[in-house]
Amino acid sequence: MNYKQILKDIHKEVSALKNTGEVASYIPELAKVDKDQFGIYLNNIHGDNFEVGDADIKFSIQSVSKVFSLAMAFGSQGNKLWERVDVEPSGNPFNHLSLLEREKGIPRNPLINSGAIVVADCLVSTLKNPKEDFLQFVRDLANDQTIDFDYDVAASEKATGFKNYAIANLLKSFDNLANPVEEVLDFYFHQCSIAMNCKQLSNAFFAFANHGKCMQNNTQIKPKQAKRINAIMLTCGFYDEAGEFAFEVGLPGKSGVGGGIVALLPNEFVITTWSPALNEKGNSYYGMQALERFTTETNSSIF
Ligand code: GLU
Repeated sequence: MNYKQILKDIHKEVSALKNTGEVASYIPELAKVDKDQFGIYLNNIHGDNFEVGDADIKFSIQSVSKVFSLAMAFGSQGNKLWERVDVEPSGNPFNHLSLLEREKGIPRNPLINSGAIVVADCLVSTLKNPKEDFLQFVRDLANDQTIDFDYDVAASEKATGFKNYAIANLLKSFDNLANPVEEVLDFYFHQCSIAMNCKQLSNAFFAFANHGKCMQNNTQIKPKQAKRINAIMLTCGFYDEAGEFAFEVGLPGKSGVGGGIVALLPNEFVITTWSPALNEKGNSYYGMQALERFTTETNSSIF
């Protein structure tokens, strides 16, 4: 497969489309990003990699970080985790509240905000130095010790994240948050603020495409847990557009409001796209276009 040429062509075709998306502005720091940046990076299981466009510019990974926190908490808690968070798609926006109230404080899944805040609570309870240990986990997955939080983005979200405060308080009222709201959200805002580029994200997700083994060949995630996390990504990874993503692209993956999308085909490859302008459901407009073209042209979806 001539990935190099295919990615180059797709990047060119998609860049020529009118970029109808908008940069997320509810976190003020994210609104400063130039909306027409666009990068793609693919690494395959054989160790080859291909990149095009702005693949080495760092961006805020935001909700993509929920996959890392889930992997870490699932690793230490095992199936006990599912007593506090379910594994069903929500069909609702990522920061939805009423479903959480109706379902008595048990979030639909770990990739929407309420679920990720419960996962963050587990990590705050079990890790010695929660933020540092989590960052180290991500660095080790990516084999890159330069990865860091973006403290301006974390502070910006802390100042404006009223919905997340509401979610955390609701969880607390249902007794599904063990630690203080402030402490859990401080962790959560920092995990979302991590800055990475397409290359670093593709490397970090390699383990999910490789039965839990990262690029250095050590097992970071148990194989049976990698399988389950991929299933959750497929059904819940794209806000209320998870069905559309499965329909158009057909891969497990996760998007974030920073404009990143990571998708993977187990035993084959990881592909990351980044373009900060989002469609009305909160997924990168160019990223969705590029991934649909990519899996259709290469005939490489899980279906
Ligand atoms: N930190 C963002 C929030 O909680 C993450 C949203 C996202 O990327 O989906 O609102």
